[in-house]
Order: sequence, then structure tokens, then C-alpha cells
Amino acid sequence: MSKNSRGVLDIPAWPQFGDAERAGLLRALEQGQWWRMGGSEVDSFEREFAEYHNAEHILAVTNGTHALELALQVLGVGPGTEVIVPAFTFISSSQAAQRLGAVAVPVDVDPVTYCIDPVAVEERITSRTRAIMPVHMAGRLADMDALGKISTNTGIPLIQDAAHAQGSEWNGKKLGELDSVAAFSFQNGKLMTAGEGGAVLFPKGEQYEAAFVRHSCGRPRGDLRYLHATSGSNFRMNEFSASVLRAQLSRLDSQIETREERWPLLHRLLSEIDGVIPQGRDERNNRNPHYMAMFRVPGLTEERRNEMVATLVERGLPAFAAFRAIYRCDGFWETGGPDETVEELARRCPVSEAINNDAIWLHHRTLLGSEQLMHDIAEIVADVVATL
Ligand SMILES: *Cc1c(COP(=O)(O)O)cnc(C)c1O
Repeated sequence: MSKNSRGVLDIPAWPQFGDAERAGLLRALEQGQWWRMGGSEVDSFEREFAEYHNAEHILAVTNGTHALELALQVLGVGPGTEVIVPAFTFISSSQAAQRLGAVAVPVDVDPVTYCIDPVAVEERITSRTRAIMPVHMAGRLADMDALGKISTNTGIPLIQDAAHAQGSEWNGKKLGELDSVAAFSFQNGKLMTAGEGGAVLFPKGEQYEAAFVRHSCGRPRGDLRYLHATSGSNFRMNEFSASVLRAQLSRLDSQIETREERWPLLHRLLSEIDGVIPQGRDERNNRNPHYMAMFRVPGLTEERRNEMVATLVERGLPAFAAFRAIYRCDGFWETGGPDETVEELARRCPVSEAINNDAIWLHHRTLLGSEQLMHDIAEIVADVVATL
């Protein structure tokens, strides 16, 4: 095993940082203007992040949850509307819709990619559906061809929850070329980070302008007379965060390359373990940034899975239980869910139900480690599975 001098597995730390982040923070500090209306770091970051995704318009915001909320609002989501979301996701996907007074309608996910199932989406479209939210789980893109077709046929826009998908590609296209809105997160664990932060990619300039006004308390750009033309809130990113994110963006490609090299090896080694099935990938998703190394141990109960996670952690791995199906969280029901019981939703979402119990993920920093580390991880997982 590859252990470091303290006798623990040699897994790279996260977040990674260096002189570029230090220089950025000092630059922001010495500007003497620490908010975006006075400084230039947020503007520069938006431009650079847009260029990276071949997108025309990117608006930086406070965090990924706000990014989703703002994007949904710009798409017309509000009271009396519905947003279709995958049942297997981080709760922000549904919370963003619910904060706007809309109903979040959970549908099942694909058993291979753990991303929203387009057939299940079609079944749940009603006259009230105002948006469809594919979540790119662990960087794997949802089936953007099938979802794009549904969107074109129905006129219902897609809003990509791309919190895990910076730098992901579909058929050689970057996220800015997929003709739909996408929301990113820069929270501490994400693929690039300033501790907290978010961004929204808009294909249309009018959408970006509408979002800009709303993310700054409804104030038109340059307003000095407190006009507040629309409702809104303060979702503005600060200059320090943007300066760090510019540096983080410059690290992203080489980190993706390392993870793209490591994952096929880890995937093969995990596949060879009896009872373990690693997360799969749609071939059209030609580039994957690998947020999380996920696998299932089908047949585990939630309790046994949680025990397995605890044992993996004891053995030195940054292992976690997968997201709970959103309708199994009390908070999901607080503002009124769809007109169904948990049992009915569970019957409609058998894959999410299974993953809810049997999926485990490892932090993406594992995939920045050595080839030897992939062997060590697989050995530990095999040991633990053998004792189940
Ligand atoms: C992290 C995350 C978010 C929310 O991002 P924050 O920046 O933490 O608010 C949204 N969706 C998914 C799938 C996430 O993992």
C-alpha cells in the first residue's frame, strides 16, 4: 500500500491551492474594491469561465443553490408551476424550485449513469411543467440528446444542474454549446472552489441581463437612484471569491486529465470485485471531470451500507453514503410536495430507491492520487465487501 510518513494512505488534500490563489487574493485586496460593482475580478472570472465552456454569458453568484434558484426564476418558475427533478440528487435541486413557490416533481434516474431518465420525465409533464432539471451526477452528463428533443417538442426549457460538471462534454460539445441554461457550484468540495460560490450559464443575452438585475436586488446596471425595477435578492459574488476561482480554473484541465486517467483503472478494479458495480458512463459523454468515484453494492440495506461506509473511513478512505432520495427527506415536504405519498413516489422511482440504500462515493481527490492508490482503494473495498 502507498502510505505516507504518518502511515496513512497517500490521498491528495482538497482543495488544492498555491501561488496563483495567493496572488489572486492579494490582487483583490489591493484593488481596494471588494465587491463586483467596484472591482474587476468577478467580471474577469465570468469572462474566463464563459470562454472555458464556449458560452456567451455567465453570471457569477453566491452559491450553487442560488444559481439554480435564479436560473429557475428567469425561466418563469413560480407559484402554480412544476419543475421535474431527479429523485436522486442533492436537495438543492428541489429546494431551489420550492423556494420560488413551485412544486418539485421527482422522477427516477438511469441505473447506469444515475442521471435523470428521459422516459420518466416525459411521463410527468403536465400543463404546469415550467422546467426540466437534469442533474449531471458526479460529472456524468444526463442524456442531453433525448432531453433536448423533449424540450424542443414541448417548449419546456432544460436547466442543467451542473454543480458536478465543470468541464464535462457531450459529443465533443462543451456545456455552453448545449443551448440550455446551466448552474454551477463552487462549494468547498466541488471541482473548483472558493469555499462557496456559484455561476449560471445563459445561452441568451436577455436571460443574462434579467438574471443580472435580479441577482442585485432588482437594480438595473449602473442605477444610482434606487430604481429596483424587478424583485430579487442579493446573490452577488464578492471579489475575493472570484480571484480564487480564476486560479482554480487554471488548474481544472490538468486535474480532469489526471482523474480521466485514474478512473478507468479504478472502474476496472472495482468491477472485478464480486457484488460491486461502479457508476457507468454514456459513451456520448466524451469528457468527464469525475466529481466523486461512485459505486453500488446492490442488495445492501441502508443500515449495512452505512456500516460499510464507516469501515471504509476507518481504513482511511474519504467515503460517504450517497444522497438520500429527495422525497425521503422531511424538508422536501415542508413547503408542499407533489400530490403523492412517499410510497407512491418510491414505487415510481425504483432505481433511486435502490441507490438510496446501496450506493457509496469516494471524494474526487482520490482520483488525483497515484495508480498505486487505485489498487489500494480496490483492495480495501474488496476486503470490506468480503466481510458483509
Ligand atoms: C453542491 C450541489 C448543489 C448546490 O451547490 P451549493 O454551492 O452548495 O449551494 C446543487 N446541486 C448539486 C447536485 C450539488 O451537488
